[in-house]
Amino acid sequence: MTSSASGERGPFGSLGLSEPLVRAVTDLGYDTPTPIQLEAIPAVLDGRDVWASAQTGSGKTAAFVLPILELLGRATDAPRALGRRPVRALVLVPTRELAIQIGEAIKSYGRHLRDRPKTVVAIGGVSINPQMMALRGGADILVATPGRLLDLIDHNALRIEPVEILVLDEADRMLSLGFADELARLLALLERPQNLLFSATFPPAVRTLAENLLHEPLRIEVAAGAPLASTQALIVQRAIEVDAPKRTMLLRHLIETQAWPSVLVFVGSRYAAEHVATKLQRAKIAAAPLHGALSQGARTQALLDFKAKRIKVLVATDIAARGIDVVRLPAVVNYDLPRSPVDYLHRIGRTGRAGESGVAITFVSVDTEAHFRLIERRHDLRLERERLAGFEPTELVPSVTATDPHGGIKGKRKSKKDKLREAAARGKP
Ligand code: AMP
Repeated sequence: MTSSASGERGPFGSLGLSEPLVRAVTDLGYDTPTPIQLEAIPAVLDGRDVWASAQTGSGKTAAFVLPILELLGRATDAPRALGRRPVRALVLVPTRELAIQIGEAIKSYGRHLRDRPKTVVAIGGVSINPQMMALRGGADILVATPGRLLDLIDHNALRIEPVEILVLDEADRMLSLGFADELARLLALLERPQNLLFSATFPPAVRTLAENLLHEPLRIEVAAGAPLASTQALIVQRAIEVDAPKRTMLLRHLIETQAWPSVLVFVGSRYAAEHVATKLQRAKIAAAPLHGALSQGARTQALLDFKAKRIKVLVATDIAARGIDVVRLPAVVNYDLPRSPVDYLHRIGRTGRAGESGVAITFVSVDTEAHFRLIERRHDLRLERERLAGFEPTELVPSVTATDPHGGIKGKRKSKKDKLREAAARGKP
């Protein structure tokens, strides 16, 4: 490939990708590679290990899927790895939804390839048999959650020793969800793959994993030092003060007045997801809940309906919503606060994706103000508290900042009325 020929194929061609892949991203309307794609694609094509700080929304999926498709395509003439049921590229992810999404991305980026790679998505929560059947004869790319992958290995359904390229996506999530032991077992099986590690944050456990796994990696820090830097310009963050019992009314009001084509609402429990979705449905707003207690079929259907805009509002818990990728999602609402500052980032990263702008609105009430301040401090943020006419809070925020684990405020003696309000907030969000 000469540089002028690749230049003619635009910026993606000049990164070293061949014509069918360039055509696929052009079909999708991508004109310019995102910063992480600019750095990662040539490095992966060069066979280097990569250690990237990247959030959802940065274009990280294409940053590893495109060069993997390119490398697998180049190597099709070479003798295949020997042995039974080999897997050539393995993508490990923390959640089922993310696995499904990456499977779709592979299909979409690979659609013009002459030899389309055999791709299998292996996730828990559904029957293992079809996955075992699909893995007969191996797979070019396997996208899997760690638990199900170990089950498949235990069933002798595949061999991962010969894996040529390993991707750990959302490594921080994988560890925080308790997959450390599974990961260690899986990594010990691999011979010597090229390793690509993507993570939004680098707590010590992820750092240790990266240091042990990666060999002279290229470090890519798209948002160096400031976790929000890559998204900040695109996401307008707002905080609205409201009494907890009035949140559903405020949410309805926003949905009815803001003309968002779709909105992702985060809540703190399965119960709240069901409850808020039901209330919205009663108000004739197309809404669905998404949480871990639903069957995998119901979760997949809710996501498909949301992506196809058949439903306008998805009311989700953090785990269920992780990795959701809906292009041009204009709004995210934090109905309940996230537990941790990192979850806040993951939540607001669902909007303002890849060059689109978006709004992230957080509801703050007297009981959660202190916890939200903590989140703000972690991200060097200080959002102006807004009040909307008709929804002004009647409870005042005391100037105490210590929080209990539930976001309540220590040092403030609760009146009977406070307690009744809290009970009401818990009982009917
Ligand atoms: P990700 O960070 O991988 O979850 O990707 C976020 C979104 O950005 C996805 O919807 C991609 O389809 C989209 N995307 C990825 N790369 C580009 C690009 N270079 N230009 C425009 N959109 C992109």
